[in-house]
Amino acid sequence: MAENTSRVAVVTGGSRGIGRAVVERLLADGYHVGYCFQTASDAAADIERLAEEHGVRVSATRVDVTDEAAVRAYLRQTEDTLGPIDVLVSNAGVIRDAPLLRMQAEDWNTVIETNLTGTYNVCRAAIFEFMKRGTGSIVTISSVTGVYGNAAQTNYAASKAGIIGFTKSLAKEVGRFGVRANVVAPGFIATDMTDSVSEAVRDRTVKKIPVGRLGTAQEVAEAVAFLASPRSSYITGHVLHVDGGIPD
Ligand code: NDP
Repeated sequence: MAENTSRVAVVTGGSRGIGRAVVERLLADGYHVGYCFQTASDAAADIERLAEEHGVRVSATRVDVTDEAAVRAYLRQTEDTLGPIDVLVSNAGVIRDAPLLRMQAEDWNTVIETNLTGTYNVCRAAIFEFMKRGTGSIVTISSVTGVYGNAAQTNYAASKAGIIGFTKSLAKEVGRFGVRANVVAPGFIATDMTDSVSEAVRDRTVKKIPVGRLGTAQEVAEAVAFLASPRSSYITGHVLHVDGGIPD
């Protein structure tokens, strides 16, 4: 049953993994959803069908979040198609893991530009309309790596720690305009991103997770949907860990 039929959400990186689970969850909650991705998406037909089932609209667009002008144009186009945006989920992210000694500048730049500058680009493009309308909920996706650090992920950890500082600061700037900004910090979630991790690393990691398993994209989407919605109306600047209790 749709929770709210008039709200509009935008999700970056919505074609796969956590982003796709967020898109599906928000559609089920009755949002019209615009999502973007970087390369070809074979998810579009299934997501379209789901939107039809829930009586809401969805739009899928190829946009590189590192391209500020393209992101701006994308948000304006989404407003034209779906209506004023109420919820922004900055989820698009990449990894390029290597120990610092072996890390190339390109690996550093790609991760910082996609994860951190991409978050800046979408939030910056959305924020004025949110403030003008006196409403809006931003959810950024960090990682427990941004909180605790992780070997061979200096670039990723820096980008994800940056997202936390960015979002907490933004929450302080825009709270009095009726706009909220929160962070979800997932732990080890089963998606394409973690498929690339070796069996040995995966087994070692699972042993450290108190609940004894990887998380699912749907479990992260639950947290995102809560922070996106008015059910969390007095929560802002918060970092919600969805990590099965991973210790630091
Ligand atoms: P996936 O690799 O499964 O999906 C990444 C998504 O981001 C895809 O939709 C991809 O699009 C999109 N994307 C990547 N780069 C860009 C770009 N430049 N512009 C637009 N879209 C882009 O990742 P996950 O679902 O695992 O991760 C989603 C988020 O959650 C990321 O921010 C990640 O850092 C974070 N996270 C993930 C964890 C995990 O264990 N999986 C743990 C903690 C945080 P396309 O399909 O076109 O490439």
